[in-house]
Amino acid sequence: RTHQIPGTRLPLAKYGGRHTVCALPGDGIGPEMIHHIKNIFRFCHAPVNFEEVQVSSSLGDGDMEAAILAIQRNGVAIKGNIETKHDDPQFKSRNVELRSRLDLYANILHCVTIPTVPSRHSGIDIVLIRENTEGEYSGLEHETVPGIVESIKIVTREKIERISRMAFEYAKANGRKKVTAVHKANIQKLGDGLFLKVIKEMADAEYKDIKFESMIVDNASMQLVSRPQQFDVMVMPNLYGNIISNIACGLVGGPGLVSGMNIGAKYAVFETGTRNTGTSLAGKDLANPTAFIRASVDMLRYLGCHYHANLISDALWKALVEQRIHTQDIGGSHTASDVINATLINIEKHMEENPHL
Ligand code: ATP
Repeated sequence: RTHQIPGTRLPLAKYGGRHTVCALPGDGIGPEMIHHIKNIFRFCHAPVNFEEVQVSSSLGDGDMEAAILAIQRNGVAIKGNIETKHDDPQFKSRNVELRSRLDLYANILHCVTIPTVPSRHSGIDIVLIRENTEGEYSGLEHETVPGIVESIKIVTREKIERISRMAFEYAKANGRKKVTAVHKANIQKLGDGLFLKVIKEMADAEYKDIKFESMIVDNASMQLVSRPQQFDVMVMPNLYGNIISNIACGLVGGPGLVSGMNIGAKYAVFETGTRNTGTSLAGKDLANPTAFIRASVDMLRYLGCHYHANLISDALWKALVEQRIHTQDIGGSHTASDVINATLINIEKHMEENPHL
């Protein structure tokens, strides 16, 4: 229920009392998941209209421009993952391009164990905050002479400061007690050294009430799989953030469960935490829709639609925890449609029992 996003943002336009958000289905399971979200929103009368824009790795650059313009126009989007071709060095990840052009500098995931969903540990409740626009994702690689490649990692004080501030402000706004900065400053002495120096200075000067610690990424990975309960808020540069978030998602049940927010000063894009396309699951009604539903709940909270966010979140929780409607990835035999139908029935029941709301 927490997830207060700190920082300023533009007031969001409403037409006839309804928000318009961009829906980018993307590839793999994205289109069927967006279809489920639209059904749930329609069913519970969430005050949201969707402007659907197709972006996929197989479409041209014009479609990418149209998608970026649509997100800029609406301010908010929900998105499936866009496949990235690994074998073509000229092909830049459209997911990365979208995040960097919209300056969605913070990727925020909340990894929490769900009772009845099998996991190695209980009591995990970690917020992972990842820098989302620079570092190893700067996209600057070249082969100087055959057999020698330079891959450039760029870090700037400005971007370190804003991701660090996001972590502390998030902790403050959501009653969290500790921030752990994950780095590799023992090897990347200048790049990660700057990250560590800037965040430490900020912790000492401005956030004395929040406990601050730093941890080298290799140790953080080991600590995470052996004693994840020690972590509260973790803040990380881009690539370590990618890996650490996937470890954390794996610990609480895998790619089908956790949502991820991409937040900038102007725009916000909601997607799944591990950003998979799930191509082999597409069209089979097997993929777990939980991560997408939770992304839509995050989006509703961001829009200020708390009644509908809670309605959907509680109905999904009931389906997963009380009714044990589990898809194959978490050891069950239910389909995605079973999860959606149970969620819809739970929503209907709640609306019948609380007609005054
Ligand atoms: P795939 O293996 O599905 O063809 P891929 O190789 O691109 O796709 P990812 O999309 O990165 O792999 O997904 C990683 C793994 O997580 C895959 O085994 C995929 O099936 C699984 N996965 C992804 N999303 C979900 C989901 N929503 N529910 C269940 N499993 C999922």
